Amino acid sequence: MDCPFCGKEMKEGRIPANQQLKWYDNTVDTVMGEGVPLSGRFRTAEAYYCPDCRQIILPVPEVESVLEMMERKLSAVGGKLEAAQKQWETRKSQTKEQKKKKDFGSKDPWEL
Ligand SMILES: [Zn+2]
Repeated sequence: MDCPFCGKEMKEGRIPANQQLKWYDNTVDTVMGEGVPLSGRFRTAEAYYCPDCRQIILPVPEVESVLEMMERKLSAVGGKLEAAQKQWETRKSQTKEQKKKKDFGSKDPWEL
């Protein structure tokens, strides 16, 4: 990436953090407010550095929030449950059908 200030190629690197790096609007409380996550699950933010201008460019990654992750996992589980239920229902109707055929064959056609 080229530096937007001097136009030279920026150094590619990363910023490791002990917890997820977040950016906060100055009007927002850093404890209670919602920040923009800058590092992903591995807590390292990818960043570009220009030593001449002493500037860092940090592309904001698409980080899944805990709520989004839970929703995704829940819907995956829901899908599996639905599939299992459908499979069970088809199996049930198949055995019913087989039983019906069996009963029909063993019955005396004159006996009603
Ligand atoms: Zn620069």
